[in-house]
Amino acid sequence: MTYAHPDDLKESDRLLRDHWAGNTDYYIFESRMKHTAGHWVWVYDAGQVVEWNDDGSPKRMVGTHLDITRQKEMALQLSQANKELAELSYVDALTGISNRRAFDCKFCELVSATRRTRSALSLMIIDIDFFKQFNDLYGHEQGDHAIREVARQVAATLPRRTDFAARYGGEEIVVLLPYTPKAGAIAVAEKIIEAVHRLQIPHVYSDDKGCLSVSIGVATANEAYDDLFQLADQALYDAKHAGRNGFRVKAAD
Ligand code: GH3
Ligand code: MG
Ligand code: MG
Repeated sequence: MTYAHPDDLKESDRLLRDHWAGNTDYYIFESRMKHTAGHWVWVYDAGQVVEWNDDGSPKRMVGTHLDITRQKEMALQLSQANKELAELSYVDALTGISNRRAFDCKFCELVSATRRTRSALSLMIIDIDFFKQFNDLYGHEQGDHAIREVARQVAATLPRRTDFAARYGGEEIVVLLPYTPKAGAIAVAEKIIEAVHRLQIPHVYSDDKGCLSVSIGVATANEAYDDLFQLADQALYDAKHAGRNGFRVKAAD
């Protein structure tokens, strides 16, 4: 007790009592203890009651203390490295398509490229309809599955190698179509809506004959690229208000 870290006492006490009550075969805990040199070390503490009093209370307990400071530090370093790696990643873990960070880079890059060549750039935001209800009705796991399936369909539908899809967040997927004017973007949006419909993912709450559907906001620009995302977002809002399972288009310039 003298050398235990005060923040660990509550949990070790709980585990000890649990063991004394006969709920566990061993008392095992990883906690911090004060070294004689004054610093804290991590200790793997394992023990067991070996003798009981007649009234069932513990009489004698034996155990070991193992210094695991190095392992703890390594585990901490590893989890920090993993976190940094994940932050550096450009791939969305759930769907395997690009993530929002990749989208931000690509968007910047394509705005420069299309501005330089004075060509059209189209952007669409695809949002699954009534997805909150979907999760509520079918569970979060089915929800994740649906997001994965929709992402796969979107990626498969894009006609050109230069087209780009990313999961922007939640159940939203963004698509960049460089060198693509409004008519081309509309054709792609129609194809995506059909492709999602073909998945035939049941969603009784949805309007699309009981199947999961998406709404799409499309925006195209020939010069004023800076507001493209906001425009697509407004178009998405319009598509939702028009009854979902469809798309709306806004053009800048
Ligand atoms: P709307 O038709 O207006 O888009 O309605 P909605 O219910 O889809 O509304 P909204 O887009 O605001 O809700 C998104 C919901 O998606 C919220 C959350 O429950 C769910 N969601 C977000 N991210 C994930 C995820 O990674 N997995 C799962 N299963 N669900 C998610
Ligand atoms: Mg959404
Ligand atoms: Mg939604």
